[in-house]
Amino acid sequence: MKPPRFAYCAPQTLPELLEILSEAGDEAVVLAGGQSLLPMLNLRLAAPSHVIDLDRVPGLDRIDGANGCVEVGAMVTHRRMETDPVVAASAPLARCAAGFVGYRAIRNRGTVGGSVAHADPAAEWPIVLLALDGAVDLASVRGWRSVAAEDFFESVYTTAKRPDEVVTSLSFGSRFAHSWGFSEFQRRVGDFATVAVAVACVMESGEVAEARVAIAGVADRPVRCPEAEAALVAGSRSAASDAAAAARDSIEPISDIHGSSSFRKRLIYAETQRAALQALRANGAGADDG
Ligand SMILES: Cc1cc2nc3c(=O)[nH]c(=O)nc-3n(C[C@H](O)[C@H](O)[C@H](O)COP(=O)(O)OP(=O)(O)OC[C@H]3O[C@@H](n4cnc5c(N)ncnc54)[C@H](O)[C@@H]3O)c2cc1C
Repeated sequence: MKPPRFAYCAPQTLPELLEILSEAGDEAVVLAGGQSLLPMLNLRLAAPSHVIDLDRVPGLDRIDGANGCVEVGAMVTHRRMETDPVVAASAPLARCAAGFVGYRAIRNRGTVGGSVAHADPAAEWPIVLLALDGAVDLASVRGWRSVAAEDFFESVYTTAKRPDEVVTSLSFGSRFAHSWGFSEFQRRVGDFATVAVAVACVMESGEVAEARVAIAGVADRPVRCPEAEAALVAGSRSAASDAAAAARDSIEPISDIHGSSSFRKRLIYAETQRAALQALRANGAGADDG
């Protein structure tokens, strides 16, 4: 199928892009890597008046590590996240999760900004942002704002981003660089996760001082699980299993064609336990667990 007719624009500066977005209103969409948008256009699930290409807008592909966080431009590809040395040093959880996004051809084109703007509830980047106390930076003709990941994802394909705003960058906290874990179940390599779990901890004197457990594929948006986080901080000798049980027991997952709610509960347990063990064992903790 061919896409419906639309006007194509390729602005060369950010102010030009924001001006076009402001004038075109909510009938316009921006094009990043096209890995989600082009199928939607071809299947006529989207029929925008304008498609505004981000490719020529400078400054959207930077990666900077400073002030306790890694700032990643919206147009940075999944593949670059897998290979960038700043990401590897300061946000290794992000580097690891990048390798689970689709397959290589998707990762070569798809972008982190496109993924969070698209807000698929099974996507990897939203839970990495949640686990690393991340934020999404947005720009419009009205100015700039930063929205905490906790407040950004509202529902399936729905975020706090307003129609005239563009995602300019994401920031990932680097406090969690030494204790993290990521695990997901996908039916085939390259598929979206049925359930994915990101765990990040701050360790003090060998104990878990703070924990984040973020889960994808279980609700209409990525969720954090405070019960599992509390189990990790409680620090029993079976903390990873306790966290996994707390996640399984506190979340009522969705059912869909990829898996029933009860199947997802089992996946929540298994993936949380694996990700938590990975995070704890990096620091010599949790050795009796699993
Ligand atoms: C076969 C296949 C398998 C995949 N598997 C996975 C997977 O396992 N995990 C996963 O997370 N994703 C997966 N994806 C999706 C992939 O990650 C896409 O890269 C991502 O969802 C969208 O990024 P994009 O750069 O291609 O955005 P586009 O397709 O260009 O845009 C997607 C949406 O976001 C909007 N948008 C894009 N950039 C911005 C911006 N900077 N500001 C505001 N709005 C913006 C667009 O207007 C559009 O509505 C898969 C895709 C395919 C085709």
